Amino acid sequence: MKKAIVLFSGGQDSTTCLFWALKHFDEVIAISFDYGQRHSVELKQAKKITQILEIEHHILSAPALNEIGKTALTDNQEIKNSEKTQLPNTFVPGRNLIFLSLAAGWGYLNDVFNIVTGVCQTDYSGYPDCRYTFIQSAEMTLQLALDQPKIKIHTPLMFLNKAQIWKVSQDLGALDFIIENTHTCYKGERSQKHVWGYGCGTCPACELRKKGFEEAFGYL
Ligand code: ZN
Repeated sequence: MKKAIVLFSGGQDSTTCLFWALKHFDEVIAISFDYGQRHSVELKQAKKITQILEIEHHILSAPALNEIGKTALTDNQEIKNSEKTQLPNTFVPGRNLIFLSLAAGWGYLNDVFNIVTGVCQTDYSGYPDCRYTFIQSAEMTLQLALDQPKIKIHTPLMFLNKAQIWKVSQDLGALDFIIENTHTCYKGERSQKHVWGYGCGTCPACELRKKGFEEAFGYL
């Protein structure tokens, strides 16, 4: 019996990973994180999606990320690039390392050693913890930290751009589901529906989602 944990935010990429995992593993468990993100709509969608797909879902709490926060995802700030690092202030420092550690800890206690995450180094904003080298290093670190060589981190979207990710969701038969149910918008907006899904249409996350959809399916 092959089991996998999916790091699941309720967004487009992690939902694509959820469908990918359902295809490649016998049993899939979704783990989401409550770190006091500004828009709890994300977690609400995550809950809804796992209920529709009848997937075991756990929400782990990581409030320290909010306490050290000072980012656009945790505080009420305009989204902009940091002058110091040039990274967008949507970057929550340490987040992916903490998420992977908590997921691996859960997996260790429940005999699940495959972890699937939707990180991607292609189109993104230069987040260092979305890069392939970081994932390789995290996998080795977790193997050593838990003395468990079976731990494997899967990143099916790592080298895809947003248009290719839309195509993957189509190949997985999940396109309509993802348009309807996933949440991407940084502003937590879900009252406006577009061909690519719900969102404000203008924040960086909506723009990336929309542009990828247009490239994939030829809307102009
Ligand atoms: Zn938006």
